[in-house]
Amino acid sequence: MSILADTRPLDVIADFPAIPAGYAYLDTAATAQKPRPVLDAIARGYGETYATVHRGVYQRSADMTLAYEAARRRVASFIGAGSSDEIVFTRGATEGINLVAQCWAGTQLKAGDRILLSMLEHHSNIVPWQMVAERVGAAIDVVPLTTDGRIDLDVMEQMLRPEHKLVALAHVSNVLGSVLDVQRATALAHGVGAKILIDGCQAVARLPVDVTKLGCDFYVFSGHKLYGPTGIGVLWGRGELLEAMPPYQGGGSMIDRVTFERTTYAPPPGRFEAGTPHIVGVLGLHAAIDYVAGIGLDAIHAHETALVAAAREGLGRINSVTLFGPEDSAGIVSFAIEGVHPHDIGTILDEERVAIRAGHHCAQPLMDRLGVPATARASFGVYNSQADVDALVRGLERVSRIFG
Ligand code: PMP
Repeated sequence: MSILADTRPLDVIADFPAIPAGYAYLDTAATAQKPRPVLDAIARGYGETYATVHRGVYQRSADMTLAYEAARRRVASFIGAGSSDEIVFTRGATEGINLVAQCWAGTQLKAGDRILLSMLEHHSNIVPWQMVAERVGAAIDVVPLTTDGRIDLDVMEQMLRPEHKLVALAHVSNVLGSVLDVQRATALAHGVGAKILIDGCQAVARLPVDVTKLGCDFYVFSGHKLYGPTGIGVLWGRGELLEAMPPYQGGGSMIDRVTFERTTYAPPPGRFEAGTPHIVGVLGLHAAIDYVAGIGLDAIHAHETALVAAAREGLGRINSVTLFGPEDSAGIVSFAIEGVHPHDIGTILDEERVAIRAGHHCAQPLMDRLGVPATARASFGVYNSQADVDALVRGLERVSRIFG
């Protein structure tokens, strides 16, 4: 019996012009394809409704400002934030993490303090902390993984000390798909008085996320992995933390009053949004959120879980394949084939119209831990089906025969 028998296929592929029949797009963890409602929102945004926000006295600009702020409220309701004032629009997850590193850690941490990360973090949740740690004289500790590729929270519990002021962890690993128990990680961090930032890049499109229930202090994600545009992302931060943070960049829109003697700043979130924002990106993000919410995150999660199970089962039948990560990974499967470089796997699969990612996935410390220079990675989205899994398995059987 097909593993998908109990799961109703989402059947939304017709919404995605970038995915022609017979093309297995399995690189959603890098970036998701865009459904028509998002493309339409972008076209309308730059088309008949285009104007700047927050400044114009004319109707068109006032309307655009309303739409821009409505998107902020939509983001807040989507992730369960208490107030839309806690939603800062950024260029993406990378900018959100850098903002917290510079404006929170950069002002709160001092020499001798410690930051706790995990072995599976994306470079964007490592390097910004290294930069600030070097500047203030703080140290970084790294939580190891369990044998099946989860952040080991039992070890984290042993490691945490009062010197830890900040913990930053991925909600879902972009390589292994392992899902963090954010509530437990948060309770552990708060137990020693540390704040906790969650990198939700791979989670928001795959799981229902409610930051109030999760209890964390900061949560970041990128729009383009949520079926929205590139160049737009979100930082959610607790109101009192954002209030206490200095601005990230100076410029228009983030001020209260400017004189050459002294400038005062706007309250959050405007304080952190210097310059003309990515207006149409925000509109596209709003449409993307409506789109995924319309399908339902529970349905998306069930769909991707079934595809991962089917892929792991099919790949597991090929002798030369090694699978990484836990059985219950969210939408992502990383693997290797003995004696074949992942780039060769990707190139041969491309000939079969199967698009996967091959490389270090911006997680070089994790590659070192796995003992490989790179992995091949298949990642699923709302538009994938059992046919894509079958195409992947057929393609890998061919790779295995070629290098046999
Ligand atoms: N964190 C994770 C877990 C990711 O998968 C990514 C994107 N691959 C990022 C952070 C960075 O996102 P962006 O490049 O969109 O800022």
